[in-house]
Amino acid sequence: MAYVVTQSCCADASCVVACPVNCIHPAPGEPGFAEAEMVHIDANSCVGCGACVTACPVGAIVPDRLLSESQKPFLDINADYYDVFPHADRTPLALVPEQRRLQRPGPFRVAVVGSGPAGLYTADELLKHPEVTAVDVHDRLGTPYGLVRFGVAPDHVATKQVTDLFAAIESDPRFGYRLGVRVGVDVTLAQLREEYDAVVYAVGASSDRSLGIPGEELPGAVAATDLVGWYNGHPDQRALDVPLAHERAVVIGNGNVALDVARILTGDPDALAPTSIDRDALAALRGSEVREVVVLGRRGPAEAAFTVPELVGLAALTDVDVVVDCDPALLAGESRKVQLLRDIADRPVDPTAGRRRIVLRFAASPVAVTGTDRVTGVRVVRNRLVTGEDGRVRPEPTEDYDDLPAGLVVRSIGFKGRPVTDLPFDDATGTVPHQQGRVAPGVYVAGWIKRGPSGFIGTNKTCAQETVASILDDFDSGAAGRTAQDAERVGANSAAMPVESA
Ligand code: NAP
Repeated sequence: MAYVVTQSCCADASCVVACPVNCIHPAPGEPGFAEAEMVHIDANSCVGCGACVTACPVGAIVPDRLLSESQKPFLDINADYYDVFPHADRTPLALVPEQRRLQRPGPFRVAVVGSGPAGLYTADELLKHPEVTAVDVHDRLGTPYGLVRFGVAPDHVATKQVTDLFAAIESDPRFGYRLGVRVGVDVTLAQLREEYDAVVYAVGASSDRSLGIPGEELPGAVAATDLVGWYNGHPDQRALDVPLAHERAVVIGNGNVALDVARILTGDPDALAPTSIDRDALAALRGSEVREVVVLGRRGPAEAAFTVPELVGLAALTDVDVVVDCDPALLAGESRKVQLLRDIADRPVDPTAGRRRIVLRFAASPVAVTGTDRVTGVRVVRNRLVTGEDGRVRPEPTEDYDDLPAGLVVRSIGFKGRPVTDLPFDDATGTVPHQQGRVAPGVYVAGWIKRGPSGFIGTNKTCAQETVASILDDFDSGAAGRTAQDAERVGANSAAMPVESA
């Protein structure tokens, strides 16, 4: 028996480290790891020990014999990786570095700002060092877990299981929360630096990008970041205006978030009911008249930003019809993503079955959101795809327009970081400039505010490792971290500040 990695893979590579026979790739440091949508098990080398299953924080690894029908495509997806990228000459585990040890004795206290996956993985990496005697995770909200709580779609139940890993991190007695604290407002960086040897900002990329087209601000046109917060019960989005009285909604953008939104808007409310979905949002979805969600991708199937595992999951939906709307010439490629889209395009759809549907429309851009008082639709232009000298495929608008009536328009074109009080900021990338996570000795970044809004939950593990390595360098060199004597003084001064234990 061999194991297979399936849809909810978060790519944190815990399984890679756990595997005693080095049969899971790409490993951290190997070519392609940084961009990998998932890791893959080599069935020919897997000894079926199950160490990877225990290590995986999101329940993504399944014995081949127990794969459900919808998981079976992952057999080929895992195997194909080894066809094109054989690892026969790898030295087992050569790429997993030994646990580094601090040279200075500490004690060191670290503040982490942001309790999402980047913040929690950073805490985890720091707590591997006994010299680190306190890691206090701050968050402006009263509940932790950031995007895992408020960003991951509620029907991705396995992905949300990563909170079990977070609970294990919290169980360390050196871990504390300061929730409901706005860093930059209630407490300044200067104050944190007085109390801690290092401050790590893991505040994510909480803003959305705008399309820059007329009508974008009309009621009924919302950002995916807000809509996703709404159905996940984010306190800032309780009052979001989500009109569901029209039979069509349009989602602009072709990433995984666009697919999440399309699934939740078309999903069976009874199937969503046992999930963590917000109760008010569920009630609204129960009354929804939406029958069709059109997902608009400005480029072609081959350029879609959504990942293969998420497309496999979408294709397996049984209560929704998935339809591909594009020039058949664009479905001629041989990548797995294009093959899958071609299979979906070839599937017969029974219009009498009355199912809701998701239309994946490619090579189409919105030119205006229409309506006067509220959204009434989207004006769409067909694009031709042109390959530039740099090899990048670009959309070029034609003269071919059409109008899509709709009551809800969701722009899902990526997140953007906001400036962080007291830190430098690069407005073009929406990130804080840094060197391997170091903004300045004693001040660091991790996660999306460091590297931009891309990757998966587990990507934050390697990202946190890099930042923590910089912190350790600075502690060891003395560039950051006070002496034990200073620490005692500061400890006495800060005793009045409440630290919530997990
Ligand atoms: P994303 O992956 O960056 O996708 C953004 C999409 O918006 C792209 O298709 C992009 O098209 C399109 N776009 C950008 N500007 C546009 C414009 N002006 N007009 C039309 N389309 C435009 O962003 P995301 O979906 O927000 O996801 C963010 C990250 O979270 C990604 O790394 C994603 O994989 C991850 N995520 C993962 C999961 C999961 O694993 N289940 C779930 C949700 C999110 P171009 O390619 O043409 O620029």
